[in-house]
Amino acid sequence: KDLFAPSRVNSAGIELSDPLVRGPLMARLAALEANTPKAAPMIGKTSGKGKAKPVTAPFDRNIVVGTVIEADAGAVDQAVRLAQALQPDWDAAGVDRRAAALDKAADLYEAHSDELLSLCVREAGKTLGDAILELREAVDFLRYYAAEARRQFTPADPLPGPTGESNILSLHGRGVIAAISPWNFPLAIFTGQVAAALAAGNAVIAKPAGQTPLIAARAVELLRQAGVPADILHLLPGGGDVGAALVAHEGISGVVFTGSTRTARAINLMLAQRNGPIVPLIAETGGQNAMIVDSSALPEQVTRDVVQSAFQSAGQRCSALRVLYLQDDIADATLEMISGAMRALTVGDPRLLSTDIGPVIDADARKSLQDHSAALAASTLCKLPVPATQGDFVAPAIFSILAIGALDKENFGPLLHVVRWSADGLDGVIDAINATGFGLTLGVHSRIDTVIERVTARARVGNIYVNRNQIGAVVGSQPFGGEGLSGTGPKAGGPHYLARFATERTVCVDT
Ligand code: GLU
Repeated sequence: KDLFAPSRVNSAGIELSDPLVRGPLMARLAALEANTPKAAPMIGKTSGKGKAKPVTAPFDRNIVVGTVIEADAGAVDQAVRLAQALQPDWDAAGVDRRAAALDKAADLYEAHSDELLSLCVREAGKTLGDAILELREAVDFLRYYAAEARRQFTPADPLPGPTGESNILSLHGRGVIAAISPWNFPLAIFTGQVAAALAAGNAVIAKPAGQTPLIAARAVELLRQAGVPADILHLLPGGGDVGAALVAHEGISGVVFTGSTRTARAINLMLAQRNGPIVPLIAETGGQNAMIVDSSALPEQVTRDVVQSAFQSAGQRCSALRVLYLQDDIADATLEMISGAMRALTVGDPRLLSTDIGPVIDADARKSLQDHSAALAASTLCKLPVPATQGDFVAPAIFSILAIGALDKENFGPLLHVVRWSADGLDGVIDAINATGFGLTLGVHSRIDTVIERVTARARVGNIYVNRNQIGAVVGSQPFGGEGLSGTGPKAGGPHYLARFATERTVCVDT
Protein backbone atom coordinates (compact mmCIF):
# COMPACT_ATOMS: atom_id res chain seq x y z
CA LYS A 1 0.00 0.00 0.00
CA ASP A 2 1.92 2.98 -1.28
CA LEU A 3 1.07 6.11 0.74
CA PHE A 4 1.30 8.45 -2.21
CA ALA A 5 0.04 6.34 -5.13
CA PRO A 6 -3.30 7.69 -6.31
CA SER A 7 -6.04 5.13 -6.79
CA ARG A 8 -8.22 7.71 -8.54
CA VAL A 9 -7.81 10.79 -10.71
CA ASN A 10 -9.03 14.31 -9.99
CA SER A 11 -12.15 15.54 -11.73
CA ALA A 12 -11.78 17.03 -15.21
CA GLY A 13 -13.93 20.09 -14.54
CA ILE A 14 -15.64 22.08 -17.27
CA GLU A 15 -13.84 23.42 -20.36
CA LEU A 16 -14.98 27.05 -20.44
CA SER A 17 -12.76 27.88 -23.41
CA ASP A 18 -14.86 25.55 -25.62
CA PRO A 19 -17.72 27.63 -27.08
CA LEU A 20 -19.86 24.51 -27.46
CA VAL A 21 -19.63 24.01 -23.70
CA ARG A 22 -19.65 27.66 -22.65
CA GLY A 23 -22.71 28.90 -24.58
CA PRO A 24 -25.17 26.28 -23.34
CA LEU A 25 -23.73 26.49 -19.79
CA MET A 26 -24.25 30.26 -19.65
CA ALA A 27 -27.82 29.83 -20.90
CA ARG A 28 -28.57 27.18 -18.26
CA LEU A 29 -27.05 29.34 -15.50
CA ALA A 30 -29.11 32.34 -16.60
CA ALA A 31 -32.27 30.21 -16.35
CA LEU A 32 -31.29 29.05 -12.84
CA GLU A 33 -31.22 32.66 -11.59
CA ALA A 34 -34.98 32.42 -11.13
CA ASN A 35 -34.45 29.70 -8.48
CA THR A 36 -34.61 30.90 -4.87
CA PRO A 37 -33.76 27.88 -2.70
CA LYS A 38 -34.48 27.64 1.01
CA ALA A 39 -32.07 26.39 3.68
CA ALA A 40 -33.32 25.23 7.08
CA PRO A 41 -31.82 23.16 9.88
CA MET A 42 -31.69 19.49 8.78
CA ILE A 43 -31.86 17.44 11.98
CA GLY A 44 -32.23 13.79 11.15
CA LYS A 45 -35.28 13.54 8.91
CA THR A 46 -36.88 16.69 10.31
CA SER A 47 -36.46 20.16 9.04
CA GLY A 48 -36.19 23.06 11.52
CA LYS A 49 -38.87 25.72 11.61
CA GLY A 50 -38.59 29.43 12.29
CA LYS A 51 -38.44 32.82 10.70
CA ALA A 52 -36.90 32.85 7.22
CA LYS A 53 -34.26 35.49 6.47
CA PRO A 54 -33.27 36.53 2.94
CA VAL A 55 -29.82 35.61 1.63
CA THR A 56 -28.70 38.36 -0.76
CA ALA A 57 -26.02 38.42 -3.47
CA PRO A 58 -22.69 40.06 -2.56
CA PHE A 59 -22.54 41.76 -5.98
CA ASP A 60 -26.03 43.26 -5.69
CA ARG A 61 -27.83 43.43 -2.35
CA ASN A 62 -31.14 43.91 -4.18
CA ILE A 63 -30.95 40.33 -5.45
CA VAL A 64 -32.44 37.75 -3.07
CA VAL A 65 -30.73 34.43 -3.81
CA GLY A 66 -32.86 32.42 -1.38
CA THR A 67 -33.93 32.27 2.24
CA VAL A 68 -32.54 30.67 5.38
CA ILE A 69 -34.02 29.56 8.68
CA GLU A 70 -31.23 29.55 11.24
CA ALA A 71 -30.90 26.91 13.97
CA ASP A 72 -31.37 27.66 17.65
CA ALA A 73 -29.43 26.21 20.57
CA GLY A 74 -32.13 23.53 21.17
CA ALA A 75 -31.43 22.12 17.73
CA VAL A 76 -27.83 21.44 18.71
CA ASP A 77 -28.77 19.04 21.49
CA GLN A 78 -31.33 17.24 19.34
CA ALA A 79 -28.84 16.76 16.49
CA VAL A 80 -26.05 15.58 18.81
CA ARG A 81 -28.30 12.96 20.42
CA LEU A 82 -29.48 11.53 17.10
CA ALA A 83 -25.92 11.49 15.82
CA GLN A 84 -24.57 9.78 18.94
CA ALA A 85 -27.22 7.06 18.73
CA LEU A 86 -26.40 5.97 15.17
CA GLN A 87 -22.66 6.69 14.94
CA PRO A 88 -21.50 3.28 16.27
CA ASP A 89 -23.50 1.58 13.51
CA TRP A 90 -22.05 3.88 10.85
CA ASP A 91 -18.59 2.98 12.12
CA ALA A 92 -19.42 -0.72 12.26
CA ALA A 93 -20.96 -0.66 8.77
CA GLY A 94 -17.40 -0.57 7.49
CA VAL A 95 -15.29 1.58 5.26
CA ASP A 96 -16.61 0.20 1.97
CA ARG A 97 -20.15 1.27 2.79
CA ARG A 98 -19.00 4.77 3.78
CA ALA A 99 -16.63 5.23 0.85
CA ALA A 100 -19.32 4.10 -1.60
CA ALA A 101 -21.61 6.86 -0.32
CA LEU A 102 -18.89 9.47 -0.83
CA ASP A 103 -18.11 8.25 -4.35
CA LYS A 104 -21.80 8.36 -5.17
CA ALA A 105 -22.00 11.90 -3.74
CA ALA A 106 -19.15 12.95 -6.06
CA ASP A 107 -21.18 11.65 -9.04
CA LEU A 108 -24.26 13.51 -7.79
CA TYR A 109 -22.31 16.77 -7.36
CA GLU A 110 -21.19 16.44 -10.98
CA ALA A 111 -24.71 15.58 -12.13
CA HIS A 112 -26.01 18.71 -10.37
CA SER A 113 -23.10 20.93 -11.33
CA ASP A 114 -25.24 23.71 -12.88
CA GLU A 115 -27.16 24.20 -9.69
CA LEU A 116 -24.04 24.17 -7.49
CA LEU A 117 -22.18 26.58 -9.77
CA SER A 118 -25.14 28.93 -9.84
CA LEU A 119 -25.30 28.99 -6.03
CA CYS A 120 -21.56 29.47 -5.70
CA VAL A 121 -21.67 32.50 -7.99
CA ARG A 122 -24.87 34.03 -6.62
CA GLU A 123 -24.53 33.31 -2.90
CA ALA A 124 -20.74 33.67 -2.45
CA GLY A 125 -20.08 36.12 -5.31
CA LYS A 126 -17.48 33.86 -6.94
CA THR A 127 -16.62 34.29 -10.60
CA LEU A 128 -17.74 31.39 -12.77
CA GLY A 129 -14.11 30.32 -13.24
CA ASP A 130 -13.60 30.19 -9.49
CA ALA A 131 -16.89 28.37 -9.00
CA ILE A 132 -15.81 25.67 -11.48
CA LEU A 133 -12.52 25.22 -9.62
CA GLU A 134 -14.42 25.03 -6.36
CA LEU A 135 -16.81 22.35 -7.61
CA ARG A 136 -13.85 20.30 -8.87
CA GLU A 137 -12.15 20.55 -5.50
CA ALA A 138 -15.29 19.43 -3.69
CA VAL A 139 -15.64 16.41 -5.98
CA ASP A 140 -11.95 15.62 -5.56
CA PHE A 141 -12.21 15.73 -1.76
CA LEU A 142 -15.10 13.23 -1.88
CA ARG A 143 -13.28 10.75 -4.08
CA TYR A 144 -9.90 11.28 -2.44
CA TYR A 145 -11.13 10.67 1.12
CA ALA A 146 -13.18 7.68 -0.09
CA ALA A 147 -10.04 6.15 -1.62
CA GLU A 148 -7.84 7.04 1.35
CA ALA A 149 -10.37 5.61 3.80
CA ARG A 150 -10.48 2.33 1.88
CA ARG A 151 -6.69 2.19 1.99
CA GLN A 152 -6.28 3.17 5.65
CA PHE A 153 -9.41 1.81 7.35
CA THR A 154 -9.57 -1.64 5.79
CA PRO A 155 -8.72 -4.13 8.58
CA ALA A 156 -4.97 -4.46 8.69
CA ASP A 157 -2.88 -7.59 8.83
CA PRO A 158 -2.06 -8.63 12.41
CA LEU A 159 0.99 -7.01 13.99
CA PRO A 160 3.82 -9.24 15.22
CA GLY A 161 2.83 -11.47 18.19
CA PRO A 162 6.13 -12.47 19.79
CA THR A 163 4.59 -14.89 22.32
CA GLY A 164 2.07 -16.35 19.93
CA GLU A 165 -0.70 -13.82 20.63
CA SER A 166 -2.60 -12.04 17.86
CA ASN A 167 -2.39 -8.24 17.77
CA ILE A 168 -4.81 -6.27 15.65
CA LEU A 169 -4.74 -2.48 15.32
CA SER A 170 -7.84 -0.86 13.84
CA LEU A 171 -9.06 2.69 13.17
CA HIS A 172 -12.53 3.92 14.19
CA GLY A 173 -14.60 7.07 14.12
CA ARG A 174 -14.24 9.22 17.22
CA GLY A 175 -17.97 9.91 17.56
CA VAL A 176 -19.74 13.10 16.55
CA ILE A 177 -17.62 15.73 14.79
CA ALA A 178 -18.61 19.40 14.60
CA ALA A 179 -17.64 20.74 11.16
CA ILE A 180 -17.50 24.54 11.09
CA SER A 181 -16.74 25.87 7.64
CA PRO A 182 -16.02 29.24 5.98
CA TRP A 183 -17.82 31.24 3.30
CA ASN A 184 -14.78 31.55 1.04
CA PHE A 185 -15.03 27.91 -0.10
CA PRO A 186 -18.67 27.30 0.75
CA LEU A 187 -18.78 24.04 -1.20
CA ALA A 188 -15.19 22.72 -1.30
CA ILE A 189 -14.13 23.22 2.32
CA PHE A 190 -17.64 22.43 3.57
CA THR A 191 -17.53 19.15 1.65
CA GLY A 192 -13.91 18.36 2.52
CA GLN A 193 -14.51 18.61 6.26
CA VAL A 194 -17.72 16.59 6.14
CA ALA A 195 -16.33 13.93 3.81
CA ALA A 196 -13.19 13.36 5.87
CA ALA A 197 -15.15 13.02 9.10
CA LEU A 198 -17.72 10.67 7.55
CA ALA A 199 -15.11 8.53 5.81
CA ALA A 200 -13.39 7.92 9.14
CA GLY A 201 -16.61 6.59 10.68
CA ASN A 202 -17.94 9.67 12.45
CA ALA A 203 -21.34 11.30 12.51
CA VAL A 204 -21.20 14.98 11.56
CA ILE A 205 -23.00 18.13 12.54
CA ALA A 206 -22.16 20.74 9.94
CA LYS A 207 -22.38 24.44 10.70
CA PRO A 208 -21.79 26.35 7.47
CA ALA A 209 -20.77 30.01 7.45
CA GLY A 210 -23.64 32.37 8.18
CA GLN A 211 -23.19 33.98 4.74
CA THR A 212 -23.45 30.75 2.69
CA PRO A 213 -26.13 28.36 4.00
CA LEU A 214 -27.87 27.68 0.67
CA ILE A 215 -25.10 25.78 -1.10
CA ALA A 216 -24.37 23.87 2.12
CA ALA A 217 -27.99 22.74 2.36
CA ARG A 218 -27.91 21.52 -1.25
CA ALA A 219 -24.66 19.65 -0.53
CA VAL A 220 -26.22 17.89 2.47
CA GLU A 221 -29.23 16.86 0.38
CA LEU A 222 -26.90 15.33 -2.22
CA LEU A 223 -24.77 13.56 0.42
CA ARG A 224 -27.88 12.07 1.97
CA GLN A 225 -29.24 11.08 -1.44
CA ALA A 226 -25.91 9.31 -1.99
CA GLY A 227 -26.48 7.10 1.04
CA VAL A 228 -25.29 9.00 4.11
CA PRO A 229 -28.05 8.35 6.71
CA ALA A 230 -29.98 11.43 7.84
CA ASP A 231 -29.08 10.77 11.50
CA ILE A 232 -25.38 10.66 10.59
CA LEU A 233 -25.22 14.05 8.84
CA HIS A 234 -27.07 17.08 10.20
CA LEU A 235 -26.98 20.69 9.07
CA LEU A 236 -27.32 23.63 11.43
CA PRO A 237 -27.26 26.92 9.54
CA GLY A 238 -26.53 29.94 11.70
CA GLY A 239 -23.92 32.28 13.03
CA GLY A 240 -21.29 32.15 15.75
CA ASP A 241 -23.84 31.45 18.48
CA VAL A 242 -24.80 28.13 16.87
CA GLY A 243 -21.13 27.23 16.42
CA ALA A 244 -20.44 28.07 20.07
CA ALA A 245 -23.38 25.97 21.34
CA LEU A 246 -22.15 23.07 19.23
CA VAL A 247 -18.55 23.23 20.43
CA ALA A 248 -19.67 23.55 24.06
CA HIS A 249 -21.83 20.40 23.83
CA GLU A 250 -20.30 17.48 25.73
CA GLY A 251 -21.43 15.03 23.06
CA ILE A 252 -18.99 16.44 20.50
CA SER A 253 -15.90 14.27 19.99
CA GLY A 254 -13.88 16.61 17.82
CA VAL A 255 -14.04 19.86 15.88
CA VAL A 256 -12.86 20.59 12.37
CA PHE A 257 -12.74 24.30 11.70
CA THR A 258 -11.61 26.67 8.97
CA GLY A 259 -11.80 30.38 9.70
CA SER A 260 -10.04 33.04 11.70
CA THR A 261 -7.20 32.46 14.16
CA ARG A 262 -9.26 34.29 16.78
CA THR A 263 -12.20 31.90 16.46
CA ALA A 264 -9.86 28.88 16.53
CA ARG A 265 -8.47 30.11 19.86
CA ALA A 266 -12.00 30.59 21.22
CA ILE A 267 -12.94 27.03 20.15
CA ASN A 268 -9.81 25.65 21.82
CA LEU A 269 -10.69 27.44 25.03
CA MET A 270 -14.27 26.18 25.00
CA LEU A 271 -13.17 22.59 24.36
CA ALA A 272 -10.74 22.83 27.27
CA GLN A 273 -13.36 24.22 29.64
CA ARG A 274 -16.28 21.86 29.03
CA ASN A 275 -16.77 18.64 30.93
CA GLY A 276 -16.86 16.32 27.96
CA PRO A 277 -14.06 14.11 26.67
CA ILE A 278 -10.69 15.59 25.70
CA VAL A 279 -10.99 15.97 21.95
CA PRO A 280 -8.96 17.24 19.00
CA LEU A 281 -9.34 20.52 17.17
CA ILE A 282 -8.36 20.39 13.52
CA ALA A 283 -8.03 24.04 12.52
CA GLU A 284 -7.01 25.80 9.33
CA THR A 285 -6.84 29.53 9.97
CA GLY A 286 -5.39 32.67 8.46
CA GLY A 287 -2.08 33.74 7.01
CA GLN A 288 0.17 36.70 6.27
CA ASN A 289 1.45 35.08 3.12
CA ALA A 290 4.55 36.42 1.43
CA MET A 291 6.31 35.90 -1.87
CA ILE A 292 10.07 36.44 -2.16
CA VAL A 293 11.26 37.53 -5.61
CA ASP A 294 14.96 37.92 -6.35
CA SER A 295 16.74 39.52 -9.31
CA SER A 296 17.11 36.23 -11.16
CA ALA A 297 13.33 35.67 -11.44
CA LEU A 298 11.58 35.77 -14.80
CA PRO A 299 9.60 39.04 -14.84
CA GLU A 300 6.65 37.84 -16.97
CA GLN A 301 6.21 34.78 -14.80
CA VAL A 302 6.40 36.86 -11.61
CA THR A 303 3.81 39.27 -12.99
CA ARG A 304 1.33 36.52 -13.83
CA ASP A 305 1.84 34.67 -10.55
CA VAL A 306 1.62 37.79 -8.35
CA VAL A 307 -1.59 38.95 -10.00
CA GLN A 308 -3.19 35.51 -9.66
CA SER A 309 -2.01 34.95 -6.10
CA ALA A 310 -3.11 38.35 -4.83
CA PHE A 311 -6.27 39.07 -6.79
CA GLN A 312 -7.91 35.83 -7.96
CA SER A 313 -11.03 35.12 -5.87
CA ALA A 314 -10.84 38.82 -4.85
CA GLY A 315 -7.97 37.81 -2.56
CA GLN A 316 -10.41 35.88 -0.39
CA ARG A 317 -8.30 32.76 -0.02
CA CYS A 318 -6.32 31.89 3.09
CA SER A 319 -3.49 31.09 0.71
CA ALA A 320 -3.57 34.47 -1.08
CA LEU A 321 -0.47 36.61 -1.41
CA ARG A 322 -0.48 39.59 0.96
CA VAL A 323 3.15 40.76 1.03
CA LEU A 324 5.41 40.77 -2.00
CA TYR A 325 9.14 41.03 -1.27
CA LEU A 326 10.88 42.41 -4.39
CA GLN A 327 14.67 42.62 -4.57
CA ASP A 328 15.44 46.33 -4.91
CA ASP A 329 17.28 46.30 -8.26
CA ILE A 330 14.29 44.80 -10.09
CA ALA A 331 11.54 46.34 -7.96
CA ASP A 332 10.61 49.35 -10.12
CA ALA A 333 10.52 47.46 -13.41
CA THR A 334 8.60 44.54 -11.90
CA LEU A 335 6.07 46.81 -10.21
CA GLU A 336 5.46 48.56 -13.50
CA MET A 337 4.66 45.23 -15.15
CA ILE A 338 2.45 44.09 -12.28
CA SER A 339 0.53 47.37 -12.25
CA GLY A 340 0.08 47.14 -16.02
CA ALA A 341 -1.26 43.59 -15.77
CA MET A 342 -3.49 44.61 -12.91
CA ARG A 343 -4.98 47.49 -14.88
CA ALA A 344 -6.12 44.98 -17.49
CA LEU A 345 -8.37 43.30 -14.91
CA THR A 346 -12.09 43.99 -14.63
CA VAL A 347 -13.85 44.24 -11.29
CA GLY A 348 -17.57 43.59 -11.43
CA ASP A 349 -20.51 41.22 -11.67
CA PRO A 350 -19.16 37.67 -11.20
CA ARG A 351 -21.88 36.25 -13.45
CA LEU A 352 -20.16 37.82 -16.47
CA LEU A 353 -17.31 35.93 -18.09
CA SER A 354 -15.51 39.24 -18.64
CA THR A 355 -15.17 39.76 -14.88
CA ASP A 356 -11.84 38.89 -13.26
CA ILE A 357 -12.48 40.08 -9.70
CA GLY A 358 -15.86 39.86 -8.01
CA PRO A 359 -17.15 41.37 -4.79
CA VAL A 360 -16.04 40.62 -1.24
CA ILE A 361 -18.39 38.63 0.93
CA ASP A 362 -20.26 41.26 2.93
CA ALA A 363 -20.42 44.84 4.18
CA ASP A 364 -18.28 44.12 7.26
CA ALA A 365 -15.49 42.71 5.11
CA ARG A 366 -15.80 45.63 2.69
CA LYS A 367 -15.60 48.25 5.46
CA SER A 368 -12.61 46.65 7.15
CA LEU A 369 -10.71 46.43 3.83
CA GLN A 370 -11.69 49.98 2.88
CA ASP A 371 -10.45 51.25 6.27
CA HIS A 372 -7.13 49.50 5.70
CA SER A 373 -6.86 51.04 2.21
CA ALA A 374 -7.66 54.47 3.59
CA ALA A 375 -4.99 54.15 6.28
CA LEU A 376 -2.40 53.28 3.61
CA ALA A 377 -3.71 55.76 1.01
CA ALA A 378 -0.49 57.77 0.93
CA SER A 379 1.51 54.65 -0.04
CA THR A 380 -0.77 53.48 -2.85
CA LEU A 381 1.13 52.21 -5.89
CA CYS A 382 -1.83 51.10 -8.00
CA LYS A 383 -5.59 51.01 -7.48
CA LEU A 384 -8.44 49.82 -9.74
CA PRO A 385 -11.86 51.41 -10.12
CA VAL A 386 -14.90 49.55 -8.79
CA PRO A 387 -18.43 49.49 -10.17
CA ALA A 388 -20.88 51.95 -8.62
CA THR A 389 -23.54 49.40 -7.68
CA GLN A 390 -25.33 48.04 -4.63
CA GLY A 391 -22.64 45.36 -4.24
CA ASP A 392 -19.84 44.91 -1.71
CA PHE A 393 -16.91 45.78 -3.96
CA VAL A 394 -13.44 46.73 -2.75
CA ALA A 395 -10.96 48.46 -5.04
CA PRO A 396 -8.03 46.07 -5.65
CA ALA A 397 -4.86 47.93 -4.73
CA ILE A 398 -1.12 47.67 -4.17
CA PHE A 399 0.60 49.55 -1.34
CA SER A 400 4.21 50.04 -0.44
CA ILE A 401 5.18 49.19 3.17
CA LEU A 402 8.50 48.89 4.99
CA ALA A 403 8.20 45.36 6.38
CA ILE A 404 5.70 42.56 6.85
CA GLY A 405 5.68 43.30 10.59
CA ALA A 406 4.01 46.65 9.86
CA LEU A 407 0.73 44.81 9.20
CA ASP A 408 -1.27 44.20 12.34
CA LYS A 409 -3.78 41.75 10.85
CA GLU A 410 -4.61 39.60 7.86
CA ASN A 411 -6.42 41.72 5.24
CA PHE A 412 -8.71 39.17 3.60
CA GLY A 413 -9.31 40.77 0.22
CA PRO A 414 -7.69 42.13 -2.97
CA LEU A 415 -5.02 44.23 -1.26
CA LEU A 416 -1.33 43.61 -1.85
CA HIS A 417 1.63 45.11 0.01
CA VAL A 418 5.13 45.45 -1.41
CA VAL A 419 8.42 45.48 0.51
CA ARG A 420 11.85 46.00 -1.05
CA TRP A 421 14.83 43.96 0.05
CA SER A 422 18.53 43.98 -0.86
CA ALA A 423 20.84 41.18 -1.92
CA ASP A 424 22.45 40.65 1.48
CA GLY A 425 19.10 40.64 3.28
CA LEU A 426 17.59 37.23 2.43
CA ASP A 427 17.91 35.78 5.93
CA GLY A 428 16.36 38.93 7.39
CA VAL A 429 13.41 38.59 5.03
CA ILE A 430 12.84 34.96 6.03
CA ASP A 431 13.16 35.85 9.72
CA ALA A 432 10.63 38.68 9.35
CA ILE A 433 8.16 36.31 7.65
CA ASN A 434 8.66 33.70 10.38
CA ALA A 435 8.29 36.39 13.05
CA THR A 436 4.67 37.05 12.02
CA GLY A 437 3.88 33.69 13.61
CA PHE A 438 1.72 32.74 10.62
CA GLY A 439 2.83 29.88 8.40
CA LEU A 440 0.39 29.08 5.62
CA THR A 441 1.75 29.77 2.13
CA LEU A 442 4.98 31.23 0.79
CA GLY A 443 5.96 31.95 -2.81
CA VAL A 444 9.54 32.03 -4.08
CA HIS A 445 10.61 33.26 -7.49
CA SER A 446 14.27 32.64 -8.17
CA ARG A 447 16.52 30.80 -10.63
CA ILE A 448 19.23 30.34 -8.02
CA ASP A 449 19.17 26.95 -6.34
CA THR A 450 20.86 28.12 -3.14
CA VAL A 451 18.22 30.84 -2.66
CA ILE A 452 15.40 28.32 -3.13
CA GLU A 453 17.08 25.84 -0.78
CA ARG A 454 17.72 28.48 1.86
CA VAL A 455 14.13 29.70 1.84
CA THR A 456 12.53 26.25 1.88
CA ALA A 457 14.84 25.08 4.67
CA ARG A 458 14.29 28.07 6.98
CA ALA A 459 10.71 29.20 6.41
CA ARG A 460 8.23 27.75 8.88
CA VAL A 461 5.39 27.57 6.40
CA GLY A 462 2.97 24.76 5.47
CA ASN A 463 2.84 25.25 1.69
CA ILE A 464 5.79 26.65 -0.27
CA TYR A 465 5.42 27.31 -4.00
CA VAL A 466 8.51 27.87 -6.12
CA ASN A 467 8.31 29.67 -9.49
CA ARG A 468 4.52 29.51 -9.72
CA ASN A 469 1.49 31.10 -8.10
CA GLN A 470 0.74 30.25 -4.48
CA ILE A 471 -2.99 29.51 -4.53
CA GLY A 472 -5.12 26.58 -5.59
CA ALA A 473 -3.61 23.59 -3.79
CA VAL A 474 -4.66 20.43 -5.65
CA VAL A 475 -6.24 17.56 -3.69
CA GLY A 476 -3.88 14.61 -3.44
CA SER A 477 -0.97 16.55 -5.00
CA GLN A 478 -0.44 19.59 -2.76
CA PRO A 479 -1.85 18.70 0.68
CA PHE A 480 -2.89 22.03 2.20
CA GLY A 481 -2.58 23.48 5.70
CA GLY A 482 -0.38 25.69 7.83
CA GLU A 483 1.39 25.88 11.13
CA GLY A 484 1.71 28.33 14.01
CA LEU A 485 -1.05 30.96 13.91
CA SER A 486 -2.19 29.42 10.60
CA GLY A 487 -3.53 26.19 12.02
CA THR A 488 -3.02 22.98 13.90
CA GLY A 489 -1.22 21.37 10.99
CA PRO A 490 -3.29 18.58 9.42
CA LYS A 491 -3.30 18.90 5.67
CA ALA A 492 -6.57 18.76 3.77
CA GLY A 493 -6.27 16.61 0.67
CA GLY A 494 -3.26 14.78 2.09
CA PRO A 495 -2.67 11.19 3.22
CA HIS A 496 -2.43 11.95 6.95
CA TYR A 497 -5.66 13.93 7.29
CA LEU A 498 -8.12 11.10 7.97
CA ALA A 499 -6.13 9.74 10.89
CA ARG A 500 -6.90 12.95 12.82
CA PHE A 501 -10.59 12.07 12.70
CA ALA A 502 -10.06 8.56 14.05
CA THR A 503 -9.30 6.68 17.23
CA GLU A 504 -6.99 3.67 17.21
CA ARG A 505 -7.91 0.41 18.93
CA THR A 506 -5.49 -2.41 19.69
CA VAL A 507 -6.97 -5.84 20.33
CA CYS A 508 -4.58 -8.45 21.70
CA VAL A 509 -5.84 -12.03 21.93
CA ASP A 510 -3.69 -14.54 23.78
CA THR A 511 -3.55 -18.15 22.74
N1 GLU B 1 -6.89 25.54 -0.52
C1 GLU B 1 -7.04 26.88 -1.00
C2 GLU B 1 -5.90 27.28 -1.86
O1 GLU B 1 -4.92 26.56 -1.93
C3 GLU B 1 -7.19 27.89 0.11
C4 GLU B 1 -8.14 27.47 1.18
C5 GLU B 1 -8.63 28.60 2.04
O2 GLU B 1 -8.68 29.75 1.61
O3 GLU B 1 -9.06 28.29 3.15
O4 GLU B 1 -5.94 28.31 -2.45
